[in-house]
Amino acid sequence: MKCVVCKGPAVIDIRRHNANFCADHFLEQCRRQVTKAIDEFSMIERDDRVLVAVSGGKDSLAVWDLLVALGYRADGLYIGLGIGDYSAVSATYARDFATARGLHLVEVDLPDAYGYDIPTGSRAARRAPCSACGLSKRHLFDKAALDGGYDVLVTGHNLDDEAAVLFGNTLHWHTEYLGRQLPVLPARDGFPRKVKPLVRLTERETAAYCVIRGIDYLVEECPMAAGNRHLSYKAALNDIEAASPGAKHAFYFGFLDRAASHFAAEAASDREELGACRSCGAPTTAEVCAFCRLVERAGGHVPSSEGPASVPVALGATRAPRAGMASVERVPAP
Ligand code: SF4
Ligand SMILES: [Zn+2]
Ligand SMILES: [Zn+2]
Repeated sequence: MKCVVCKGPAVIDIRRHNANFCADHFLEQCRRQVTKAIDEFSMIERDDRVLVAVSGGKDSLAVWDLLVALGYRADGLYIGLGIGDYSAVSATYARDFATARGLHLVEVDLPDAYGYDIPTGSRAARRAPCSACGLSKRHLFDKAALDGGYDVLVTGHNLDDEAAVLFGNTLHWHTEYLGRQLPVLPARDGFPRKVKPLVRLTERETAAYCVIRGIDYLVEECPMAAGNRHLSYKAALNDIEAASPGAKHAFYFGFLDRAASHFAAEAASDREELGACRSCGAPTTAEVCAFCRLVERAGGHVPSSEGPASVPVALGATRAPRAGMASVERVPAP
C-alpha cells in the first residue's frame, strides 16, 4: 500500500477517495479537508475569536488541533456533565491537551454551577439522558460563547455524526430539524454562529489523525449512550458504506446540495417566534426556556439574566452571585 502523493509506505486507506496516504500526507489531507469545509461554507473568518467545544474525545481534540495548526485563534470549552467517572476522566484529557500546547480552556461544571448532573436531570425531567444532555450543552455552549465574546462556536461533529443525524431525521421526517441540519448556523439574537469543520472527515479519520499527531484522547464511550438510536443509525450507515464506499458522503453532501433548501422555510418560521426566556433571557419559543425548565425540575440553580445563581431558587427569583476560577478558566453560573 503506497501513498498516493509520495509513493512512500501508506498508513491509511481512504476508500471513498480511492486513495492511500503516508502519515505526513494524511495530516495534509485532513487539513485540506477542513480548510475546504471552512471555505466552502464560510465557517470562520481569519480574525474570528473561536471557541471549540471539547469533550476529551477524538473529534473535538482533533478539530481544536487542526484549527490551531491552520492558524486560527481557538480556545477550548469543556462542560463537566457530572456523569460519574466518565466526566472526571474526560476532563483530564481536555485539560492535558490544553496544558501541553499552551492553549486556553474555559471550563463550566454543570453540578457546581447549576446544581444538577445529567443522570439526575434526565430522571427528573423524564427525558432520555442524551436529550437532557444535548439541551444542557447547547445552552451552555451558547452562553459561554456569548459571555466570552467569541465570534464562532465550533463542534467536533464529523461526517459519520452528520450522516447519522440526517438518516434519523429523514426516517422520521423531522422536517423542522432537516431545515437546520447545516454545517453552519449563522449568529442571531442570543445565539453565536455555530460551525462543524469536520464534516468532510469520518470518525475513523479523526481517530487516525489523533494517533499520528500524538493526541491522547478518551476512547471510552459515555455510559449514558447505551440505547441511543443514533448509534444504530451509525451502524446501519457503516454497513452501507462498507458495501458502497462514498455512500455517506453522497447522502450528506447530496442533501446539502439538493434538498436542504426545501426545508429552510420551515426552520425560518420557527425563528420568527423566538422571544426572551423570562428567567435567563436566552432566546426561546416559550415563556421560560427548556433549559431553565430542566434545571428547575432537576432541583438545581435556575439561572437568571440579572446575574449568577448560587442556591436553588424558584423561577424568576433574585439570585446571589457566585464564581470560581481554577488553573483553567471556570465560568461562573449565569
Ligand atoms: S452520549 Fe449522551 S449523555 Fe453522554 S455525553 Fe453524549 S449526549 Fe451526553
Ligand atoms: Zn506520502
Ligand atoms: Zn432560560
